[in-house]
Amino acid sequence: MTPELAPYAANAESSRGRRFREPPPRGRSEYQRDRDRIIHSTGFRRLEYKTQVFVNHEGDLFRTRLTHSLEVAQIGRSVARHLSLSEDLTEAITLAHDLGHTPFGHSGQDALNDCMKPYGGFEHNLQSLRVVDVLEQRYGAFDGLNLTFETREGILKHCSLKNARLLGDVGERFIRRQRPSLEAQIANLADEIAYNNHDVDDGLRSGLLEMDQLATVGIFRRHMRAALKSYPKIEGRRLVHETVRRMIDTLVTDLIRQSAASIREHNPTSLDDVRKAPAMIRFSQRIQQEQTELKQFLRTNLYRHYRVSRMSSKARRIITDLFQAFLAEPGLLPPEFQARAETNTPRAIADYIAGMTDRYAIVEHRRLFSIDVS
Ligand code: MG
Repeated sequence: MTPELAPYAANAESSRGRRFREPPPRGRSEYQRDRDRIIHSTGFRRLEYKTQVFVNHEGDLFRTRLTHSLEVAQIGRSVARHLSLSEDLTEAITLAHDLGHTPFGHSGQDALNDCMKPYGGFEHNLQSLRVVDVLEQRYGAFDGLNLTFETREGILKHCSLKNARLLGDVGERFIRRQRPSLEAQIANLADEIAYNNHDVDDGLRSGLLEMDQLATVGIFRRHMRAALKSYPKIEGRRLVHETVRRMIDTLVTDLIRQSAASIREHNPTSLDDVRKAPAMIRFSQRIQQEQTELKQFLRTNLYRHYRVSRMSSKARRIITDLFQAFLAEPGLLPPEFQARAETNTPRAIADYIAGMTDRYAIVEHRRLFSIDVS
């Protein structure tokens, strides 16, 4: 049974629809169809071999973009369900939100953006939309996955005014300074909850972070103490998990409570009201501050850890080398990208590189730069 949706939820029956008309789905809703198409896409399978923070070959237990996306979907759906919003739309947006990510995480994205500066730049949000709108080639009648407007709008988390003008319908809200659906707002914060917590977990697992260090961070210390109060003798991985699960619970509960209060305050009666109101999915001020402290800690101690920096530096080199080699000689691109390169060479190269998994990029680099490999 589909739970009753709030009047301001995104409702599949009143969707603004797909770019190419299709017969209505049978036995599932429009948003469920979006989710199914995303799961069956090539881009989705590639997420398994794309770095979140730790490069795939560093260990079997670290998050990849795929497991990250699944965690975001789990958190997003819980929040949506509690607020009587569309779980299906939230799930579709969260599963697709990182489809446009380059190999090697943020350093890969930064490197590709630097290479693309003279040609309009590279932004992973925009690229996620490009994957579902253009790059997936699976259907006879259209390029892309032909998703509903609401899923596409949710995927495009931010974008410049210049790009917004080029994007048509999904760009409108940036020009009008409006908000997307509450489901899209949830996807955004579920992403934040997921990565802050799994980066703590992976950071500890990798040995790059230590418990005493993390105990200097308010939100971690508070929940570690609570875990030890319940189980005074636990230590190691068990203590980490008992702490992290409490943090996730606090964040999800706070997000639900605060968002419900702010929905009551603004009292929207339709999705249209949601678009005109300020962002209503939010944390309380206290939790927001604690999250900022944790993020700052992770930036300094994990993302800028010398061992992570070494990998980032290698990643930058690989992406930059590949880009420059293809730009100098587009004839080195595989045939399907050569065809694309005829209209816009740098963009075709960026599409090719962004689609690579970590290990594919490493192999491709070897193929182009090592004389021993053909
Ligand atoms: Mg993400």
